[in-house]
Amino acid sequence: MTGLRTVEAQRATVLAAVRPLPTEVLPLGAAAGRTLATAVRAAVDIPVFDNSAMDGFAVRAVDVAHASPDEPVTLRVVADLPAGTAADPAIGAAEAARIMTGSPMPTDADAIVPFEDTVGGLAGSLVTVTVVAAPRAGGHLRRRGEDARVGDVVLPAGVALGAWQLSAIAAAGVAQVDVARAPRVAVVSTGSELIEPGRALRRGQIPESNSILLASLAVAAGAVVVARESVDDDGDGLRTVLAAVTGGAEPADVVVFSGGVSAGAYEVVKNELAGTMSFSTVAMQPGKPQGFGVTPGGTLLFGLPGNPVSAAVSFEVFVRPALLALQGRTDVDRAVLRLPAAAPWRTPPARRQYLPVVIDRTDPSRWTVRPATAGGSGSHLAGGLGAAEALAVVPAETDAVAAGDLVDVLLLD
Ligand code: AMP
Ligand code: MG
Repeated sequence: MTGLRTVEAQRATVLAAVRPLPTEVLPLGAAAGRTLATAVRAAVDIPVFDNSAMDGFAVRAVDVAHASPDEPVTLRVVADLPAGTAADPAIGAAEAARIMTGSPMPTDADAIVPFEDTVGGLAGSLVTVTVVAAPRAGGHLRRRGEDARVGDVVLPAGVALGAWQLSAIAAAGVAQVDVARAPRVAVVSTGSELIEPGRALRRGQIPESNSILLASLAVAAGAVVVARESVDDDGDGLRTVLAAVTGGAEPADVVVFSGGVSAGAYEVVKNELAGTMSFSTVAMQPGKPQGFGVTPGGTLLFGLPGNPVSAAVSFEVFVRPALLALQGRTDVDRAVLRLPAAAPWRTPPARRQYLPVVIDRTDPSRWTVRPATAGGSGSHLAGGLGAAEALAVVPAETDAVAAGDLVDVLLLD
């Protein structure tokens, strides 16, 4: 087929237009989902100090080097060290300190005997302890700085901050992070047939489902949704909404239109934004018609096809990478797994297929994929999207997928 742009060319056009957003400093509690703009360096060592990895006794290894059940060694207990203590008791010959997990190791001690290797165990007296096994020198000790030292990079710029990352930053003694501002996204559905879901429909009308789809996807990609609108095909509504969201002190960074970009007679996005956006046919299915442009003020405009599956796939392939790139994310691509098809399916000629699929996880060592909708790859099968958990990506050159064929699968979350 001639005249079709490759997905890569369209993506390159989009990504080349992205200017990274300014950054802001946030407390950790407000930073979930944001992207680090500046690497985080440890402000304290992790661990902060040498400490015990077990509940037990801090000892001098030499005193108990030959301890065994047959030759137990009894030590005098000279201190009790709960977590949080600042004490550093002197430990002399044949002496020990009871110590809890996480308590600072006394300077004079060099090994930990767990409770399990004493006669009394946890219930033992606090006057003496009888040791029945020789500890390894350094055993059951967590060394200061063995995880990170002051100044070490804990996380590089460009990573997303999830729960694990935020906890690593907190453990490094850092309370604030420099992150990209969240992109402001406006979502505008076009179509005179669209009615707010739940309302009574007269003949010709359908529930509007793309705006909730695209707004939710935008939020999942780290954006804040500043407007979610549905407008008619006559153009007035589109002009009004566009002026509102691109004007003012805090204009939208991105406007995502759906519908009105293909070859029909009432293509409102195409008609209204012909000067600002370019309209292409891209070698993919679904998602062939794509509009993209940048306003003079710098707002990125996406014109996605209106069929719900097309809109979802187009967001995934073009809008999500742009939103992540705006935030300075190092990796804007989804993880790809190569999995066998559980069933055969048809593929379009000369266009890359993005097929919503369900993953069968019955055999953990051999996941398989099958189309999410019984009707196949129809881009109007909006209900089937509810079952989809991934996208199978089949190259343009592949004529058909047979059961057992390996296909690339983009994992969505
Ligand atoms: P369009 O791209 O405007 O030609 O729309 C293609 C198909 O998608 C038509 O059947 C529309 O009714 C449908 N459609 C467009 N926008 C939406 C939307 N926001 N919600 C649900 N269906 C839509
Ligand atoms: Mg339409």
